[in-house]
Amino acid sequence: MTLQRRLWVKSCFVPFFRQVEGFSGRCDDQELGGQAGAPVLTRAADLTPYSTLALSARVTRLVSVRHVAQLLALRRVLPRFILGGGSNLVFAGDFDGLVLHMAIAGRRLAHEDADAWYVEAGAGENWHEFVLWTLRAGWPGLENLALIPGTVGAAPIQNIGAYGLEAGERLHQVEAIDMHSGERVHFDRAACRFGYRDSRWKQEGWHLDGRFAIVRVTFRLPKRWQPQIRYADLAAALADVAQPDAGQIADAVIALRQRKLPDPARLPNAGSFFHNPVVDAAAATRLLASYPALPHYPQPDGRCKLAAGWLIEQAGWKGRRLGPVGMYEKQALVLVNHGGARGTDVLALMQAVQRDVRERFGVELTPEPVFVGA
Ligand SMILES: Cc1cc2nc3c(=O)[nH]c(=O)nc-3n(C[C@H](O)[C@H](O)[C@H](O)COP(=O)(O)OP(=O)(O)OC[C@H]3O[C@@H](n4cnc5c(N)ncnc54)[C@H](O)[C@@H]3O)c2cc1C
Repeated sequence: MTLQRRLWVKSCFVPFFRQVEGFSGRCDDQELGGQAGAPVLTRAADLTPYSTLALSARVTRLVSVRHVAQLLALRRVLPRFILGGGSNLVFAGDFDGLVLHMAIAGRRLAHEDADAWYVEAGAGENWHEFVLWTLRAGWPGLENLALIPGTVGAAPIQNIGAYGLEAGERLHQVEAIDMHSGERVHFDRAACRFGYRDSRWKQEGWHLDGRFAIVRVTFRLPKRWQPQIRYADLAAALADVAQPDAGQIADAVIALRQRKLPDPARLPNAGSFFHNPVVDAAAATRLLASYPALPHYPQPDGRCKLAAGWLIEQAGWKGRRLGPVGMYEKQALVLVNHGGARGTDVLALMQAVQRDVRERFGVELTPEPVFVGA
């Protein structure tokens, strides 16, 4: 099967919550900031379909944001929360405020020079479809991040990463609206202050107060493409391919993810629920003396990253339930909703897992999703 055919087949199989209809074309000021009618408010909206964990909660007002003008019109309404695909969220309770559901569409090749393609997309574009679109167009570079749920606009918030690549490595520029001043601002890669599942949005608390609403993201895809297949599982999956191209890498990543992670459409979840904890060298040495099998990854700064999933499994939580929620039977790092769960159920399980891992290993687990309405 040709690369184009394979990617077309994959793009027809997008099992995750779809945010906006695919739109390929110009992504300019007219579309992002152009005229827009009065914002359409939905009052007392049910948030269950707006998060991949499918938690039952209500919000006072919800708006689907398709134009920058809507953001400007609503920027003084508080409290507010900016919502993408809801794949990294826990609605811990009802939210008495305004939810801005980002649905700004559009994607295009913004610029090309001798060294790179610069591709941009509106914040509401579905991330996975955007990745497939770049590959179909012959612009490799994002293939390792295929099938991550959510929107393009949320990708910089936690610097999404998978299979040896982080979005921040390819990011050129973020365009956002300063909801305080109403100004359009640009953040280059350095200004985003990316770290492991981290960015300036998280460091400054903007991911909670919605200070800077991301409306457009531009990625720089170098023409001197190098495959990133250091990650052990990916290398093993491609062992029989002499020189894998970007499409083959995307196919392998998609197959691995579909094997390991539950599809939120069938079993609601928010992906990895805890960060892999990073401990100092002394703590790592102590733990490894007692648990030689503990998967660990030495960091450049001398600290050591530990596999949270292994710690949770050893603490007895793999496949175990607490009320309507539980830790997934095939991957202990994923918290799943077996049906009818509320935010309080998730909080109870989160705290029970944290307590047991702390008591057994002396390691503190921190949750990856953002908590809203707690
Ligand atoms: C099955 C599954 C697998 C996953 N695998 C991975 C993985 O491999 N790697 C990884 O890094 N993540 C993974 N995730 C987590 C999730 O997909 C990412 O964090 C994703 O970027 C979240 O996008 P979203 O649009 O759903 O954001 P949301 O969950 O809606 O929001 C997340 C945060 O971003 C903020 N935000 C969203 N859009 C904007 C915007 N336009 N402007 C300003 N703030 C905004 C929100 O306010 C919130 O604080 C996975 C999740 C699931 C369910």
